[in-house]
Amino acid sequence: MLDKIVSADTTLAEFSHIFDSEETCSKALFTAKWPEGFRCPRCGYSHAYTIISRRLPLYECRDCRHQTSLISNTVIEGSRTSLMKWFLAFFLIARTDQGTNAVELSSILGVTYKTAWLILTKIRFVMSQADEQAPLSGIVQINSAFYGRPYNPTVLRHPQEQPLLVGSSVNQQGESIYIKMKKISVAHMRDKSVLRSGTEAFYEQHIDNDDTTHVTCVTARFSFTRFKGLLQTAKKASKWINDTFHGLGSKHLQGYLDEFCYRLNLTLTKSPIFHHLTSLCANSPSITYAKLISQKL
Ligand SMILES: [Zn+2]
Repeated sequence: MLDKIVSADTTLAEFSHIFDSEETCSKALFTAKWPEGFRCPRCGYSHAYTIISRRLPLYECRDCRHQTSLISNTVIEGSRTSLMKWFLAFFLIARTDQGTNAVELSSILGVTYKTAWLILTKIRFVMSQADEQAPLSGIVQINSAFYGRPYNPTVLRHPQEQPLLVGSSVNQQGESIYIKMKKISVAHMRDKSVLRSGTEAFYEQHIDNDDTTHVTCVTARFSFTRFKGLLQTAKKASKWINDTFHGLGSKHLQGYLDEFCYRLNLTLTKSPIFHHLTSLCANSPSITYAKLISQKL
């Protein structure tokens, strides 16, 4: 339903006109959470009583009597922000090649910067989690790259340069079908060279060893065999991060790279991003503020 209503061409005004009430958003969230109709999270039964005595409906399973709310086990759980604002955030972050930042989001949603930042960070967290569940497979191509200073020809790494590995599953025609961009820990670097331990760590964490036929990894910067498409993608990611967030330190970089790849991968498979994001957020448990700030993003 959502992919029919919201497309890549939908404007902010059109979107706000469609999702104009808590009720509309509540229905859309229900469909995203339970596309086949209500399903009890405890026993799997498909019928429930709806209790409407609060801000959002509560569902009581007709079999085991377990009560569940519309937002439990979603990214919205624990938030006092309205569904309309959350849906608007989904829409803004789903915009191809654009996304949004906390300053813009707080102004459009009419919430504090902290609330906007938290919404974005929670959404980014579920994107990163989803990416962890999708290792590269089949034919895999990897190239090292740098995020940070636009041009630094020396062999020594500038402190603001973040080494990355950009990996892709490719089809028989050599076209990328799924891309990941991951920071390389400085422990795996010697000046600007990636140590073998760095590529091994990437293989370990991001490649499905049982389902991979061929891996080619290029870490020499001026090699003739380097994957120019992947380097181009890393450049685009750097530009988007610089334009949208005006550059940033290493702490949050991985979350931004994952967000970039999330939209890119859906674009590669021509999947509707808003629809996918809403479904992902409706089926991924939230993370608390305390956990968010204590973990490495
Ligand atoms: Zn039940």
